[in-house]
Amino acid sequence: MMKFAVIGNPISHSISPRLHNFAIKELNLNAFYGRILLEDINQLKKPFGYLNGANITVPFKEEAVQICDYLDVHSKKIGSVNTIIKNKDEFYGYNTDALGFLKSINEFKNIKSALIIGAGGTARAMAYTLNLNNIRVEIVNRSQKRAANFKDFEFFTWENFKPKSYDLIINSTSAGLIDDELPLPFDLLKETFEKAKFAYEVIYNKPTNFLNLAKSLDLITKNGKDMLIFQAALALNLFFSNKLDEEKIISYMKKAINLR
Ligand code: NDP
Repeated sequence: MMKFAVIGNPISHSISPRLHNFAIKELNLNAFYGRILLEDINQLKKPFGYLNGANITVPFKEEAVQICDYLDVHSKKIGSVNTIIKNKDEFYGYNTDALGFLKSINEFKNIKSALIIGAGGTARAMAYTLNLNNIRVEIVNRSQKRAANFKDFEFFTWENFKPKSYDLIINSTSAGLIDDELPLPFDLLKETFEKAKFAYEVIYNKPTNFLNLAKSLDLITKNGKDMLIFQAALALNLFFSNKLDEEKIISYMKKAINLR
């Protein structure tokens, strides 16, 4: 039996095992997908003593690059890995967040500019893929500490950010994940939303205050459910050497996300 898992901290909220195991069962694959709470990033290689592959989640995606012997073109450019496959004691790193995100915003038409709130691994994947698709991207983060990862972009902190007009506003932070926080102070976010058309939230398990505020201002909104499914479907296919039918995986994972 092949063994996979999602590795992160916290991890109990992750529904990746539900998505993967449902698709694995429907596709008659001999595999199991679990979840691993990792306390110490230096121990990241340890579970691969028995795992064939894993998804890496908050807050380890950037550090995960370091344990990989090979990186795909996306993870190399982004500097963040969310999928690792172990093959003959070598570690192969991939980033499926970028393509998963891109597929999930397909329904937002005519986007020419975007503001990404947050500067973590997910923000890097989003900025990279939007930029590749000729969308102007600016970043605003609560601190300056990750600015060096966004050398090709306009980067602001809450202190020097002045709301402008962007088509799409994205929350890529974990603000709202286990609390009710907004990713940007209320007044700045409200003014930004008032000049925008679309709001996108990476969090998928509840209606966040970010999305509630956007809806109250009549923006078209979307949460992170589709991105979660699309990046997971791409990862599962990678675990099986891209031999599976991606659209079938997506339809099974969509069914699974609605199971309670
Ligand atoms: P990282 O830990 O790499 O980055 C977190 C970012 O959020 C940093 O910029 C951090 O700011 C900022 N941040 C954290 N808390 C707050 C807060 N209270 N207020 C404002 N900013 C905050 O995380 P990732 O980029 O890996 O993941 C971010 C989120 O995206 C998570 O909630 C994750 O679950 C979700 N996600 C969803 C996916 C999906 O498929 N829907 C896929 C991937 C991720 P600072 O730099 O100042 O610390």
